Amino acid sequence: MPHILTLNAGSSSIKFALFEAGSLNERVRGQIEAIGTKPHLSARIANAEKTETDLDAAEVSDHAAALAAILALMEDRFSGADVKAVGHRIVHGGPDYGSPVIIDEDCLANLEKLIPLAPLHQPHNLSGVRAAQAAFPDATQVACFDTAFHRQHPWVNDTYALPLELYEEGIRRYGFHGLSYEYVTRALRQLAPMHAAGRVVVSHLGNGASMCAIQGGQSVGSTMGFTALDGLPMGTRCGQLDPGVVLYLMAEKGLTAAEIENLLYKQSGLKGLSGLSNDMRALEEAGTIEARRAIDYFVYRIRRELGAMVAILSGLDALVFCGGIGENAWRIRERVCQDFGWLGLELDESQNRAGETIISSQRSRVRVFIIRTNEELMIASHAAEKAQEAIASAAAA
Ligand code: AMP
Repeated sequence: MPHILTLNAGSSSIKFALFEAGSLNERVRGQIEAIGTKPHLSARIANAEKTETDLDAAEVSDHAAALAAILALMEDRFSGADVKAVGHRIVHGGPDYGSPVIIDEDCLANLEKLIPLAPLHQPHNLSGVRAAQAAFPDATQVACFDTAFHRQHPWVNDTYALPLELYEEGIRRYGFHGLSYEYVTRALRQLAPMHAAGRVVVSHLGNGASMCAIQGGQSVGSTMGFTALDGLPMGTRCGQLDPGVVLYLMAEKGLTAAEIENLLYKQSGLKGLSGLSNDMRALEEAGTIEARRAIDYFVYRIRRELGAMVAILSGLDALVFCGGIGENAWRIRERVCQDFGWLGLELDESQNRAGETIISSQRSRVRVFIIRTNEELMIASHAAEKAQEAIASAAAA
């Protein structure tokens, strides 16, 4: 039976999912984490129990070996799966890629040129592409970009106030989490078409976190910019920062670029503030002063960005929460929405605690939703469309 495989390769992990090509029914979803150190495979097969397996570190020492382990699992459990297309999450599409594309040699060369813009993600995304090309030489390989959803945003949201030649060189506000926003936008259209056509803010709150202002289904503003560092504080990333801090760290403390990168990407955010953990659940349970203050800052920044987005949208019709924190942490949602009565936004306390799809009260003018995001399904859907296009153009040729 024809299938679509999705791959999302991070710095030390590969997330994967397998879908039936026509129905997009999910057959398996899982990930290999800690590639090269303590590789561990977890997978959920067709909504059954999760299987967990520690892998041999010497064998699973890189992304190609991790992909081989994923393929071995599929061969073992889905030997009849005929992979027609592989959809890849590619973090950076630069200024030119505004929608998914079939990957050929030219495209791969263009994406390689973008590595300096996303050094922590892009090389791994592309090694996932190469490994999949080798494993499935006849499948259509499709790049799905995290930046694409934002490419049409207005120029004022695309730029920094730097000399114009730097903008031309590609120093722009790209915005990320685009596949999640695209999925949520489509899901909202099904759930509440009138609201989806209006002024919407989506808060993707997970280990990575950002917010997107959406008008009529189009991104008009994102908290993330040139890299996935800006905006909200995250598990280990700092979020918005005065660039003067970076200058100070270099000039006065003698930190190198690599040390600053490590500080801002891996030692900051909730982890840095709490001195404890990057994990929201752990912070809620810990209850130390530092953990509470880290959560206070997280909530404060979300509320501040929400206010800014309401201003650029000239109001608000719907607020959506997604991501591990947005979908599960009712206390955070409650605190984010508190005192927004002036905007006509009021939560239903019990629906919020129960994690219902609609969590605003009957009289709230702004509807508040929880939508479980599904980036893998979005990737599979794009890959399926592109594979169809490839078949149609081959038939026409
Ligand atoms: P993600 O990166 O989208 O998988 O989200 C991971 C984050 O979601 C981590 O900080 C988790 O602690 C947080 N999270 C997941 N479930 C809960 C929960 N029930 N309560 C609070 N935070 C949660």
